[in-house]
Amino acid sequence: MSEVRVRFAPSPTGYVHIGGLRTALYNYLFARNQGGKFILRIEDTDRTRFVEGALENLIEVLNWADLDYDEGVFLDENGKTFEKGEYGPYIQSDRVKAGIYDEHIHKLIDEDKAYYCFCSAERLDKLREQQKADGKMPRYDGLCRGISKEEAQKRVDAGEEHVVRLKLPANKDIQFTDAIKGNLSINTNDMDDQVLIKSDGFPTYHFAVVVDDHHMKITHVIRGDEWVSSTPKHVYLYEAFGWEAPTYVHLPTVLGKDKKKLSKRNADVAVEDFKKKGYLKDALINYIALVGWSPETNQEILSHDELIEQFSFERVSKSGGVFDEAKLDWVNSHYVKELIDRELSEQIKPYLIEAGYINEDISDEKMDEISATFKKSLNKFSEIVEQTDFIFAKFDTPEFYEDVKENLNSEDSKKVLTKLKEIVENEGMNEELAKTIMKRIQKETGIKGKSLFFPVRSALSGSEHGPEMIHIFMILGKEGIINRINYVLENY
Ligand code: GLU
Repeated sequence: MSEVRVRFAPSPTGYVHIGGLRTALYNYLFARNQGGKFILRIEDTDRTRFVEGALENLIEVLNWADLDYDEGVFLDENGKTFEKGEYGPYIQSDRVKAGIYDEHIHKLIDEDKAYYCFCSAERLDKLREQQKADGKMPRYDGLCRGISKEEAQKRVDAGEEHVVRLKLPANKDIQFTDAIKGNLSINTNDMDDQVLIKSDGFPTYHFAVVVDDHHMKITHVIRGDEWVSSTPKHVYLYEAFGWEAPTYVHLPTVLGKDKKKLSKRNADVAVEDFKKKGYLKDALINYIALVGWSPETNQEILSHDELIEQFSFERVSKSGGVFDEAKLDWVNSHYVKELIDRELSEQIKPYLIEAGYINEDISDEKMDEISATFKKSLNKFSEIVEQTDFIFAKFDTPEFYEDVKENLNSEDSKKVLTKLKEIVENEGMNEELAKTIMKRIQKETGIKGKSLFFPVRSALSGSEHGPEMIHIFMILGKEGIINRINYVLENY
């Protein structure tokens, strides 16, 4: 069999959708699993949807996610795009300039497989309205099929506005096999004479995708479900050109927790959002791979290499895959725990600085102490802000102690806190002391169990739950501990 060649062919219309990242990932995994090539092609023929900077952003996301590709459009260190590969240009608007689609459309027109259409937008609108009113499926009625080639050419030469349409044969079954959905078939009587070249001279997606996939020697077209209904048009075009069609692989839709298509309306969908929230790329990739696919082993934590090794279309589900952020949190927390403290410190520091909790000049030791303390409880880096607010932010707000107020008021609590304060005032705070101080207070006050731990934990952290006491002592240090105890003793 020939070398496997797959492509990710996004349109640069804005941010990268989680579903798009998954399409890129499955292409990448399949290519690497098969020892094939992965290509990035940019489909920008819909000029109305083009967004400045979207292309660069897209490449950055792929780079960030380590989905490296072999051919296509790349970014150099100055942020400028360049191409690599022998089947370029890889940006469709450049392929327009190179005359690639022109050449191919003329071939179809010459062979009577496509025709010029001069119908105005008003006529098409009216036609559509009428068809709808008659309860028919709206589609082109073929009026311009009747214009002779010579006449049509004359009108084109005279500058009359036109498009080029595919001339579908009547009553022909178009069949293809999708690697996930199985055999699909549709009759041309239920299809439209698709526009191939628009009035602005640009090819439509349907035309460009076929010409390009053929020329780039793509063997498997792996893309979202939403394109499955367009595929018969593509399959017919291959036939019209006398080319062999690739294998089609349509991926199940990425759904939100409400089982509706994941969209901006029901969730965060931009990969950039997840980057910002502080998910690790390996965790995001690991989780996204599982949205619509599962390995034979049913493992849920898979490294980059394990994903490549285990990926196959056989285990891609036919129905949609649900993207559940809580599940992503779970996967991500696993990766967070694998980080060494220093790595975690580097990741969470920007969030703490942005919250105004710390300065750039915080010591590595202090940062690492924070990392060690919160590593177990962090699902994602951005959570460090809420989890550390008891240290940095909430101390001066009286409501802070609302839920624990009453207990702090007891005689035992006061005794325990006074003892703690006394020891810390005399000895400061260090690791050895942090480890032994609770025992000492117990011995010296005779108070133990909940009555001992509760006041210390709540006075110092404002909550009954949270990190281990040793960590709380170390992070607050002498001054922090004394301030908090004073606050409680004075106010309760
Ligand atoms: N340009 C299309 C998109 O933005 C690609 C569809 C395909 O892969 O054929 O989704």
